Amino acid sequence: MMNTILAKADKAAVEKAAALLAAGQIVAIPTETVYGIAASALNGAAVKKIFEAKGRPQDNPLIVHIDRLEMLKGLVATVPEKALALAAAFWPGPLTIILPRGPKVADEVCAGLDTVAIRMPSHPVARAVIAASGLPLAAPSANRSGGPSPTTAADVLADMEGRLPLILDGGSCGVGVESTVITLAGQTPVLLRPGFVTKEQLEQVLGCPVELAGAVLHQLKEGETARSPGMKYKHYAPKAHVTILRGDLDAYRAYVSGHAGPGVWALCFDGEGEGLPVPSVSYGAREDDASQARELFSALRRLDEQGAERVYARCPHIGGVGLAVYNRLVRAAAFEVVEL
Ligand code: AMP
Ligand code: MG
Repeated sequence: MMNTILAKADKAAVEKAAALLAAGQIVAIPTETVYGIAASALNGAAVKKIFEAKGRPQDNPLIVHIDRLEMLKGLVATVPEKALALAAAFWPGPLTIILPRGPKVADEVCAGLDTVAIRMPSHPVARAVIAASGLPLAAPSANRSGGPSPTTAADVLADMEGRLPLILDGGSCGVGVESTVITLAGQTPVLLRPGFVTKEQLEQVLGCPVELAGAVLHQLKEGETARSPGMKYKHYAPKAHVTILRGDLDAYRAYVSGHAGPGVWALCFDGEGEGLPVPSVSYGAREDDASQARELFSALRRLDEQGAERVYARCPHIGGVGLAVYNRLVRAAAFEVVEL
């Protein structure tokens, strides 16, 4: 176990992070989506340390973070017109684009695929660390594999203390769910993971339909291959057994009341827990999917801290940013959804 320093992300801490990264170490950094564990994407031995710290399966590739388009040189084989259009519209921001892989990326980043995932984050600390190191940074979410992603530096410390030398504290993440992932490596664009940049926004910029990968809303069937390896794993799950209840508030309240008992908690929207016979944690406002995205992971972590064993979750609206919220929640619930 090593000593983990939690440092406010000032200029000196950013420089310290850049020096560690240049020396082949890993560092946790804030981004606008969630906190990430970063390593140089050019250094295979450094990237391996990310997989070890997270306990991440080796065949799940990482996203490479850049701070300017010139950094794409050598990371990708080609930059199609469609990628330039998406970059112009959404970068810097919470969109990851999968492209044919270039020669400079370490093999460990791509997990054996001939494609690479690229994102240009908007968070000032993430950008400062990339700029100070001059390195493209491979960075998955800074949680232990399978658990909820971290949206504060304290969340990272809870999961990663002793596993990395430095965590930069840049406050709470504004988006709260991981980036939207779209692939432009095939014939048609496919949305592999929904996020804050929505399918509708992508289609508007591309001027063509974007296919939704099957694994976004449903469990992969036996024999079906994941187009994005991350989708085949149990994911985002708290310790509690979570069930999503899909229906209106009255039906939700009736169901939860009928299933009250020790260790039972409600995961609902702001103000909806009042009058329920079980304790509750809320995750945003019912009509505000961005607030749900921002609060979901921290709500799941709070349920664990409280020792919740059985959680009945309100179902978000499955569209727009709500598609990303539902995608994370349904995995946290191991796809257990009750239609009320
Ligand atoms: P994380 O960094 O933890 O947010 O996970 C990154 C996500 O992007 C995972 O779901 C990966 O499977 C996916 N991903 C990364 N690289 C690729 C790639 N080359 N092709 C398809 N999916 C990818
Ligand atoms: Mg992750």
